[in-house]
Amino acid sequence: DLVESMEVTTSILEVEPSAVELMDRMLIELTRQQPGYAAQIANITGNPEAVLAVEFYGETDEELRDKVDKLEYHLRQKGLLPHAPIVRVFDAKGQTDVWTVRKAGLGLLMSIRGDAKPIPGIEDVSVPVEHLAEYVAEIKRVCADYGTVAAYYAHASAGCLHIRPLVNLKDAQGVRVMDEITRAAAEMAHRFSGVLSGEHGDGLQRSELNETIFGPELYQAMRELKGIFDPQGLMNPGKVVNAPPMTESLRYGASYQTVPIQTFLDFSREGGFARAIEMCNGAGVCRKVGAGTMCPSYMATRDEKDTTRARANALRNALSGRMFSPEELLGPEVYDVLDLCLSCKACKTECPSSVDMAKIKTEYLAHHLEEHGVPLRTRIFANIHASSKLASKTPKLANMAMRSPVAKIAMRKVGIATEREISPFAEETFEAWWAKHVARRDARQATEPRYTRGQVVYFHDTFATYNYPRVGRATVRLLEAAGYEVIVETRRACCGRPMLSKGLVEQARGLARQNVFHLAPYARQGIPIVGSEPSCIFTLRDEYLDLMPGDPDAAHVAANSYMIDEFLARVAATEDLGIEWRSEPRSVFFHGHCHQKALIGMKASMDALRLAGIDAKESGAGCCGMAGSFGYEAEHYDVSRKVGEERLFPRVRTTPPETTIAIAGVSCHQQIEHFTGRRVQHIAEVLAEQVQPGHVWRPGVGKAQAAD
Ligand code: SF4
Ligand code: SF4
Repeated sequence: DLVESMEVTTSILEVEPSAVELMDRMLIELTRQQPGYAAQIANITGNPEAVLAVEFYGETDEELRDKVDKLEYHLRQKGLLPHAPIVRVFDAKGQTDVWTVRKAGLGLLMSIRGDAKPIPGIEDVSVPVEHLAEYVAEIKRVCADYGTVAAYYAHASAGCLHIRPLVNLKDAQGVRVMDEITRAAAEMAHRFSGVLSGEHGDGLQRSELNETIFGPELYQAMRELKGIFDPQGLMNPGKVVNAPPMTESLRYGASYQTVPIQTFLDFSREGGFARAIEMCNGAGVCRKVGAGTMCPSYMATRDEKDTTRARANALRNALSGRMFSPEELLGPEVYDVLDLCLSCKACKTECPSSVDMAKIKTEYLAHHLEEHGVPLRTRIFANIHASSKLASKTPKLANMAMRSPVAKIAMRKVGIATEREISPFAEETFEAWWAKHVARRDARQATEPRYTRGQVVYFHDTFATYNYPRVGRATVRLLEAAGYEVIVETRRACCGRPMLSKGLVEQARGLARQNVFHLAPYARQGIPIVGSEPSCIFTLRDEYLDLMPGDPDAAHVAANSYMIDEFLARVAATEDLGIEWRSEPRSVFFHGHCHQKALIGMKASMDALRLAGIDAKESGAGCCGMAGSFGYEAEHYDVSRKVGEERLFPRVRTTPPETTIAIAGVSCHQQIEHFTGRRVQHIAEVLAEQVQPGHVWRPGVGKAQAAD
């Protein structure tokens, strides 16, 4: 119980912990729904109404264990031991997880869907610890009187409570409720000898209540003091003293309205395009550097304009007409704020409010193209599949032409960075190799009994087909080594990712329909669809649901699509893969694709590498900076380099030459080779090389079945 947890805090403080932190059920539930944070509260089981995290310092592990034992004994003696067992977290990662979730508390709370949000106002109340329980009980009652509830997290040991009532500030009634709850909370804080701002500033919201908190005499003294140092009222006007009403200067308020937008993508899960943008609460986690992936453009430029937050602010202010007029939405200023977004999807996971700027940008670009037309360069990048197919008819000629001075002139003319090389076309496409492979396989199987673990469809992407068929061959080798009968569906189309990243949503929808039509019959039978290019596989899994909302076939395809490494790790989790791996030691430095990191994380890739006996190290770097065509665009070339230089390139350069640099995405491949000169291999190639030469899968391992 929340109030009980506040009551017990005073007893916990008797054993002198360094901190006691509170997380309530709302925060726990919202954290569990956030892909980027859910794993970090796996230690919390069941459905507690409140959790207290108690921290101790100590010189040794033993000392810490003693302190926790003492806490448990102390609570037992006082009859205050909680019903749920005390979870002891002694490892560094577990401890970091606890603090990460606690620190991301505000953003996580703001991820709540709908217009009623956990609003500030009383989010920094401090009262003496002995009054915490009474204060929380009173606030619960006040909120209930207004027909709402509040979220609670707190530095309980310091008596500092972050309380956020759920209120809709887009209507006049909500604004009034905020005002009244805040005033009631201020009066209670005063009664309990507390303050409204325990660790944050008063700001425009709480300054108005300083007279209530400090009393008229002290308040007058504060006014006079500020007046002496700032007689003209130039410094922070309206802060601490002489504040305007808290109901002014609201981000939303009763007059807030956005222009309705007919969207190309489905935003029903988010409650509409404007609501998807409004998920940003402005806390600025997207300004972090040196860790994670969000937000690569900010990490490169260190300019607020290039944060996820700035993009959300610009769009919200244009849609609501607050800073830009709605007509300026598609104008150069707003476009410029979105321009450096690499559509890496990191914010979808790392932003505590799950602002999905990649999706928002696709939608924005679709409207921009509708208004301004489709530039030639956009058409070239969007149609990479068709042009690669054509070029691969005469690969030698195409490669020669691409290296010629004329090609460089053409690249300059359309705005493609001339420093870049276009990936060469292979002499033999994957499909040509596949046709021969099938002929050989059928001939062999005519004379040998045919066993299979099951069937798998290989989704052969554009680059594996025309530029790097070795990646496709490695994927087939791995699937066959694990006993699968591989199907290559040659009627499949480009996944649509090149179109989506440019805003050509209708073209992408057409391709999605075509792919779903050809792949759904397999998916419906439970035949997995396995790919080697993350940007394609995660388009099937993510964007297809927004392109074909409510379509059961699209849902089947999305639910049955996997990356090759993910697929192998997944099978190995429940069955013996049956692959004989080489025993020679091998070290690999692996850099994952941003979409993979955002949607499934890196665990599966690392598991697959370790399964194959590889000493694997994750790059720990953010975005490589290429992001499809972004790094090829002349005006983005420098930013693209800076993004990679942030962590990835220096780490690649200092990786010993005998360690293999492995990637999953073709963008990372091109980018690392271009800027570091290090040769790169696809994770499927690395894994396939680890398969013992001559290995043939035999029934008896895994789930074998005889085929006809
Ligand atoms: S976009 Fe940035 S400021 Fe906005 S909620 Fe996410 S991390 Fe916070
Ligand atoms: S998609 Fe990536 S680049 Fe774009 S705003 Fe989100 S984190 Fe930043």
